Amino acid sequence: MIIERFAPSPTGLLHLGHAFSALSAFEAAKSGDGRFLLRVEDIDQPRCKAAFVDAIFEDLSWLGIDWETPVLFQSIRLHAYQDAVSTLTEMGLTYRCRCSRKDISAALSAPQEGDLPTIGPDGVIYPGTCRERVDGSDADSVRLDMRKAVALIDWNDPPEFVEIGEDTKKLDANFLTQHCGDIVLARKDIGTSYHVAVVVDDAFQDVNHVTRGVDMAPATAIHVLLQRLLGFSTPIYRHHRLIRDADGKRLAKRHDALALRELRHQGWAPNDVRAAVMQSV
Ligand code: GLU
Repeated sequence: MIIERFAPSPTGLLHLGHAFSALSAFEAAKSGDGRFLLRVEDIDQPRCKAAFVDAIFEDLSWLGIDWETPVLFQSIRLHAYQDAVSTLTEMGLTYRCRCSRKDISAALSAPQEGDLPTIGPDGVIYPGTCRERVDGSDADSVRLDMRKAVALIDWNDPPEFVEIGEDTKKLDANFLTQHCGDIVLARKDIGTSYHVAVVVDDAFQDVNHVTRGVDMAPATAIHVLLQRLLGFSTPIYRHHRLIRDADGKRLAKRHDALALRELRHQGWAPNDVRAAVMQSV
């Protein structure tokens, strides 16, 4: 049975891009007699607002989407994410890092051998400054030592993942070390990160199909790696094209003009939203 989910963060109003993800996931679940879950990804509490949670429920209902209850709120599951980080630490795959963004930019601007740093799913690739530090007591965050993590994978039988619309993909060690690097697993303020929370909850909720924008595709490699390390199964992924504004820019939460509720006030009906987003899937 297909189990799909839509997992918005309540840090702004839903826009057409969210409608595309939610409708695609909902319709995939319903057409296969599957289940559709809504998960509120509210780990970053200072940025999340209850009013946006209400708006998510209202906008999705207006679109004709319904979901199972109770809705899972990530803010009550921090212990589960911390357990996953502890497991990775017990496996010897983490280190504590005290670098601020400023430290990272300074390290990256210093002359160095080889290629210039690349941008990964979380921004600039961490230069590894704290990797060999022994005392982590003053650290801010926990990072995954990507090279050690990659070394644990049996590359004769690498994890594969199905991406609808693409050939089956194999996890790629080079992509992980060069283009993702030592990602943050736990921020000091919340004790987790998006990657850990999403992987733990997809497993916890038995999600086996994930539909989200193609901007999330690079993060999928990280998620597949974490699933393998933590012993979770890997869902089937579908990354849909992005909805863009009139200037060709990807929609973001700042695009209030294209927020579903604004369109509704302008007289759009749910079918107008469907037509606008689903026409060239
Ligand atoms: N919470 C993420 C967001 O709102 C989406 C996470 C996901 O679909 O994996 O962008």
